[in-house]
Amino acid sequence: MKRVRFLQVALTAVAALSLFLSGTVVATAATPDQGAVATKYASVGGARGYLGRPVTPLRCGLAAGGCYRQYSGGSIYWSSASGAHVALGGIRARWGTFGWESGFLGYPLTDENCTLVSRGCVQKFQGGLIYWQSSVGAHAAHGGILSKYAQMGYENSPLGYPRSDEACTGTTSKTCTQQFLGGTIVWRTGKGTSVTPSSGSIGYVVNKRRPNSPIGRAPSDLVVVGNQYLRREAANQLLAMVRGAAGSGVGITTVSGFRSYWTQLAVYNQYVAQYGRAYADTISARAGYSEHQTGLVMDIGNPNGACGLSACFATTPAGAFAANNAWRYGFIVRYPNGYTAITGYAFEPWHLRYVGVRVSTAMHNLGYRTLEQYFGLPAAPNY
Ligand SMILES: [Zn+2]
Repeated sequence: MKRVRFLQVALTAVAALSLFLSGTVVATAATPDQGAVATKYASVGGARGYLGRPVTPLRCGLAAGGCYRQYSGGSIYWSSASGAHVALGGIRARWGTFGWESGFLGYPLTDENCTLVSRGCVQKFQGGLIYWQSSVGAHAAHGGILSKYAQMGYENSPLGYPRSDEACTGTTSKTCTQQFLGGTIVWRTGKGTSVTPSSGSIGYVVNKRRPNSPIGRAPSDLVVVGNQYLRREAANQLLAMVRGAAGSGVGITTVSGFRSYWTQLAVYNQYVAQYGRAYADTISARAGYSEHQTGLVMDIGNPNGACGLSACFATTPAGAFAANNAWRYGFIVRYPNGYTAITGYAFEPWHLRYVGVRVSTAMHNLGYRTLEQYFGLPAAPNY
């Protein structure tokens, strides 16, 4: 395939080349490109480096006037816009499936960088990125999906590495989907991108538009923390936070953790009987829609009970500690002040949702206050 394409470009570029012999083009020493490729080759160790010995001459006349040379261990590609860079291994092979430098990715802009988490690699191209990691192989990311992935923190986000390339349907109105280890990014013409964390991930979203699924779901790894239940990982991290607070002289108590579908049903029905459905909906989740059902939420309090389950909790020692430090332990204040139109809940400075340190750190660093905004999900002001 490479040879056929090469012959096509060689025929159009023959004037620029000194030799054209039985399908093999050899650029003259005077071709300026050869200098950049040769310099690159020398910089990665020449014949004694990982590229090994040349297996083709320098071949020029590629798209945008570029050149490449193949070696036993990979290739060097050059164009005036991109410079000279090495392509090899799984990333090079995946690039080839998209049409090499003539495809949407264009030329490489960097060599591959294999210092990523879980020994992954990434290479930047003119039109996007290709990632490789041993458990998922090599996949490209580009366009609107790449923008969202970048905004969330690339492979360090809860999405982790791509495990598919994007797949698109439709022509005028397109829907493109790409799978990542921790979820799915969907891009729609005119509608931008949204992220759906995988249901097995710790960062999945429950709100008034996204009930627990299945609706009666109960986690299997609940453990006792204080006088409440939480999923094991969340419980360990909550205990770490309680210890951290104690180290600063702040006491934190556990008020309400896991609540089952049936408990929530009883709580909600009681509020409906007391206040009516409209008001009940503003202070209590309907059964199946409570975040407490995930086993990833703890309502916290002060040892003296100050401002328990009240907005003024934010000004108490436990509330202030949580607001400033919960993210370090993987928790977020899930219903922050001023975001009722997005979360559907009034300010609840005591309601901490465990999302994992990756998500909480990314949200903290990027300035996101709600999971809906971080994941690009629709607001959920009501049912
Ligand atoms: Zn709560």
